[in-house]
Amino acid sequence: MNSEIQTLIEQRPHLRDPLERYARWLHFSQSVQEMLSGVQLVRSEGDARSYPGNVADAVFDLFLDVLGVSAEHLAPLRAALARGDLDFLRFPLDDYPVLPDFSCSPEEASTVLFLLSRPHFQALRQRSPQDGGAWVGGRCPLCSAQPVLASIVEGPQRRLHCSFCATIGTFRFIGCPHCGNNDVERLGTIVSDDEPGFRIATCDECHSYLKTIESSVLQKMSVDLADMASLPLDMVAQDKGYVRLAPNPIGLRKMT
Ligand SMILES: [Zn+2]
Ligand SMILES: [Zn+2]
Repeated sequence: MNSEIQTLIEQRPHLRDPLERYARWLHFSQSVQEMLSGVQLVRSEGDARSYPGNVADAVFDLFLDVLGVSAEHLAPLRAALARGDLDFLRFPLDDYPVLPDFSCSPEEASTVLFLLSRPHFQALRQRSPQDGGAWVGGRCPLCSAQPVLASIVEGPQRRLHCSFCATIGTFRFIGCPHCGNNDVERLGTIVSDDEPGFRIATCDECHSYLKTIESSVLQKMSVDLADMASLPLDMVAQDKGYVRLAPNPIGLRKMT
């Protein structure tokens, strides 16, 4: 396990389980990146939508360790991946397929598909970076996902971070990136003394929220770890009835 995660577990033992799951995913993701760097990523149109056919099975073997569930339970998913039936590019639009024989709720399925596909999106970002561009309509310019977090940098300026491909881009300082609401009367902020450097931006128009961090936090930890470390803030926002639209690094939206 990487030392940053280990340190965070020591500082926040109540987050041990989610952080350990994240560590397993990170190991999976790094292994997949290495695997993909050795192959021509896009050999056909089908390969752009999912893992290339020549590595799909090996990727799936690695993936089994992330979830700690039986290979048998995930067999329908392995088969769909091998057949090239999964169009990853639909996932950031919240369009997840219903897989026959895959016995889990739609929410669980979207978590599993997010975790499986995310290294693919991160490899796309390596190949065609779109960092620094404007997020038109509040969507990632590379994969069209909604932002996972916002960060504030000197200016002040607001940056949005993608939950799938990790692209970072700009967005206007005031306004809800999810629905475009600019009415300050219907925008709010929640802060917690327990989480310095973090706050929650809420929107009463679409009832969503977005965690917002000072850029100084990102000098100490990655965006993923900042999101994981501030899990208790998600609970505060969700207890107040606001919803999280982009999955966190372990694929969760609902924490309560
Ligand atoms: Zn993206
Ligand atoms: Zn909104």
